[in-house]
Amino acid sequence: MEVLSQGKAAVYEEPIGPAGVRIRERPRTEPQPGAVAVAIRAASINHLDLWLAHGAQRVTPPRVIAADGAGVVHASGDPAWKPGDEVVIFPVLCCWECEWCRAGENVRCPRFGILGEHSDGAACELLHIDSRNLFRKPKGLSWHEAAAFPLTFLTAWRMLTTRAQLRADETVLVVGAGAGVAVAAIRIAKHLGARVLVTSRSEAKRKLALELGAEAAFDSNGFSKAVREATGDGVDVVFEHVGPATLEESLRSLAMGGRIVTCGSTSGVKAEISMPRLFFRHASLLGSTMGNASEFEAVLRALDQGLRPVIDNIFALDRVQDALTRVDTTEQFGKVVLSVDGD
Ligand SMILES: [Zn+2]
Repeated sequence: MEVLSQGKAAVYEEPIGPAGVRIRERPRTEPQPGAVAVAIRAASINHLDLWLAHGAQRVTPPRVIAADGAGVVHASGDPAWKPGDEVVIFPVLCCWECEWCRAGENVRCPRFGILGEHSDGAACELLHIDSRNLFRKPKGLSWHEAAAFPLTFLTAWRMLTTRAQLRADETVLVVGAGAGVAVAAIRIAKHLGARVLVTSRSEAKRKLALELGAEAAFDSNGFSKAVREATGDGVDVVFEHVGPATLEESLRSLAMGGRIVTCGSTSGVKAEISMPRLFFRHASLLGSTMGNASEFEAVLRALDQGLRPVIDNIFALDRVQDALTRVDTTEQFGKVVLSVDGD
């Protein structure tokens, strides 16, 4: 089922960075059977939108950006949803019907994709999407919070729970602490009861991470020495998304039998690591992308128990270029949100 982004929308048109994403008006239609038209209240920016805007994703424009959105059902082609229902959007595209999808492994679907990358996205007034991508908005969340959490919390949740099996009595090191996914990891690790350490190049971000409950915050330069001093043997889990610039230091920060879990490599695609450190110390290197619908539901339950995203800044949809620039210059701590309905 095709995702349709309608009404006013932020459209990636040219691979020239934030300036290549422009506000356009798209025609409105009635939803197809099985689809729901959601009046988007807020959307949010992810690093993925910047990859797209810089032409790094091999996506042919035009493409409406944003994996993250929340809003109110406007019209429904599925009796399970009715106008007025408040929803958040599961940002994974999949077929829902293959062997993997039926086994609950949406991330392994042959048609796996990400909303706003492999289809048009949520930075628009009206989003038509498969009804199976909709979940009830947790009551305690504002619209901005509801649009801020999906991609980063889903990703970080799967990384820390399903993949790294982080336990409450363990210590996790979150590398590059300002990024949306890293801030989500700090919040989730604290929610799970783990001890949290962080690294960042920015003193301001280290301070903000400490305010979120991190026990210690280290400069990114040669951080493994400080981590080992703070922990004795090292940490149980390293939460990675930076890649080549930090991976060797991440490996050096691990305790015997520790796990590195990664969802990205913002500093480049190829990394060098010392193999003996990996095998002599029984380390695990785990990859992860997005998450399953069941993991999204686990995040929703944690939100009901008080887990919250961190919002860096809110921009009106019309100011999407400013919102993208804030993430492009890595000034943000937490999520940059687009307000679609004006509040
Ligand atoms: Zn499938």
